[in-house]
Amino acid sequence: MKRILLAGKCLAMVAMLTCCTSNKPNRPKYIDRGDYRVDSAISSRSQNERVRFLVMHYTAVDDAESLKLLTTGMGSAHYLVPVLPDTSDGKPVVLQLVPEDKRAWHAGVSQWNGRGNLNDTSIGIEIVNTGFTEDETGKTWYDFHPRQIELVARLAKDVIRRYQISPDNVVAHSDIAPQRKYDPGPLFPWAQLAQRGVGAWPDKTTVDKYLAGRAPDSPVPVAPLQAALAAYGYTIPQTGQPDEETVRTIGAFQMHYRPADYRGAADAETEAIALALVEKYRS
Ligand SMILES: [Zn+2]
Repeated sequence: MKRILLAGKCLAMVAMLTCCTSNKPNRPKYIDRGDYRVDSAISSRSQNERVRFLVMHYTAVDDAESLKLLTTGMGSAHYLVPVLPDTSDGKPVVLQLVPEDKRAWHAGVSQWNGRGNLNDTSIGIEIVNTGFTEDETGKTWYDFHPRQIELVARLAKDVIRRYQISPDNVVAHSDIAPQRKYDPGPLFPWAQLAQRGVGAWPDKTTVDKYLAGRAPDSPVPVAPLQAALAAYGYTIPQTGQPDEETVRTIGAFQMHYRPADYRGAADAETEAIALALVEKYRS
């Protein structure tokens, strides 16, 4: 009995000490950096994440070549999704080649919505996919495996949540470099991913409003479409002409939002989708 009481007294003393210690002003917790120390006790309210964009790519080569190029070449990405991702305890496994707080070299010369050099501010996901082959009949594209898309969806949702990336800042490489790039191409399932909360998608009722009863493939003047695409975020000339740069940029937009026809023609449906996206994300 005596022992138990003593033990009780000891506990009371510990509690008292804890109480008195916590009433003292907070002592700075310095971080030692060798020749100097840092006091980070007070932090600013005005801050946000440096990562603002998520960029989707395909590698255009097979698993082994993708891994070799992205680990020993002049390009890199934060994540690589193999053709058939491994699973661990039933969960798909993605390869991380660059830590998220480091800059990966995946975007190159790039612009989106007034910002350039997206390597500085993005996370890059490379997906192993052949891309396309081309002959006199045109381009043949290759499907992504459903297991790849499932992994991309899970990974992207997590990255988007952690960095609070807005839907319109989840982009294709071809959106941010339309003169140079086609990836991830017209078979990348943007609509399906948008349904899962990954990336932007226009509301059908708004598209119908802007279509205003016109046939989807009816030609429209180029200038308003150039203006709408610029307002949404694309770098596109404002020439009023279907010049080569304009056609490629319209084609990049169509690969993302209207992949059934991505030849780059200025038509009513493309214009309606662009205006619906501007209304949803830029107003
Ligand atoms: Zn790319």
